[in-house]
Formats: sequence, C-alpha cells, structure tokens
Amino acid sequence: MHAFPRPGQGGPAHIVNQPETAIMSPSIHPLVDRGVKPGSPDFAGGTLVCRCTTRPVKVAVKSQSAHNHACGCTKCWKPAGALFSLVAVVPRDKLSVVENGDKLKIVDPSATIQRHACKECGVHLFGRIENAKHAFHGLDFIHTELSPESGWSAPTFAAFVSSIIESGADPKNMDAVRARLRELGLPPYDCLSPPLMDALSIHAAKLAGVLKA
Ligand SMILES: [Zn+2]
Ligand SMILES: [Zn+2]
Repeated sequence: MHAFPRPGQGGPAHIVNQPETAIMSPSIHPLVDRGVKPGSPDFAGGTLVCRCTTRPVKVAVKSQSAHNHACGCTKCWKPAGALFSLVAVVPRDKLSVVENGDKLKIVDPSATIQRHACKECGVHLFGRIENAKHAFHGLDFIHTELSPESGWSAPTFAAFVSSIIESGADPKNMDAVRARLRELGLPPYDCLSPPLMDALSIHAAKLAGVLKA
C-alpha cells in the first residue's frame, strides 16, 4: 500500500511493535492510527489530567473543543513515539485550573503560545496567548486526549507537517506520512489550514487598516 520501510529497514523505532497490518503505514498518533473517532455534537467539556500518579494537575474545560488537528511542530506536547500532537482550542474563559496548579510552569515565557506544563510529568495542560492583538487571543490550546471523557471534536486536518523532520522524522518517509494523513481524513498542510491562515491574514489586514473591521 505505502512504500514505508519495515522495522529493521530504516523505519522509525516506534512502529516496531505494531501488528503486521499496521506496519505498512506510518504511525501518526495512537489515537488516530486506527481511524479518527467522530466527536459528539452535544459534548460540553471535561477535565484534563496530567500523567502524575500522585497529585495530578487537573484543568476543567466547560466547552466542546474546536479546530482539533494533528500538529507536527516541535513545540506542542505529544506522547512518546508519536509523530504528531493532537491539539484543539477552547475559549480561555471556559478553562480553569482546578487541582494542583502549583505544579504548573510556563515552558517558554517568550513564545507566542505560553504552554503551561506540569513540572513533574512534562505534560502540557494548556497553551495561552497573552498578546491581546493576536488573532487567536482568547483561545486556549488543549490536548483533549488528557481527558477521560469522550466526545471531544475530532481532528480534521494536519498542520505544520514538514516540521516533523525537525523532530527527527526521516525526510524520505514524508510522502508516506502525507498519504496516511489523507487516508485518515486529515488533509496535510505545512502551516495551518486555509481557513485558519485566512483568519490570521484577515486579522492582520484589519490591524493594518487594509480591511474594514
Ligand atoms: Zn504531572
Ligand atoms: Zn504544534
């Protein structure tokens, strides 16, 4: 099906222990490798929990997620071995830290998205944009897989696909990765999806006075 190297022939280590049928396709993320599960239309949120066995950080989200996608950038948190993270947004006023917030620290305070991570297990509980002029100000970035509830909006595209090379992915496998993303219904883009790129440009054009608000 795909010209993807088998284990022992130069493929990434994380596909070694997958069943025979899965070996032919690159692993994107454990939650989508067997197909993307649709969200529930009436889902209204859940609680994100870090991976600590004692005193886990808990973050309540009182909203369905939006713009869920696979992200290939080097900054988003992802489980060990995954090529991509899965990341979505929720309104920041619907998100609150409810337990053990003292364990959170900002990974890089100078980054546009300030990722609040657990100091002990390293999981990112939420990412926040503090620059009020940014097009995505008011939205927090979350990883819905940290919640035990199911029904979160499903990922619908893959962003920053070429960037997985910067995390060590083999450039020779990029055709197979993009083909697998398309097969999963996650059209691959090397920046954000066209609607989100348009949103960024519309915001910039309004700030510059080129577009009337
Ligand atoms: Zn933790
Ligand atoms: Zn990312």
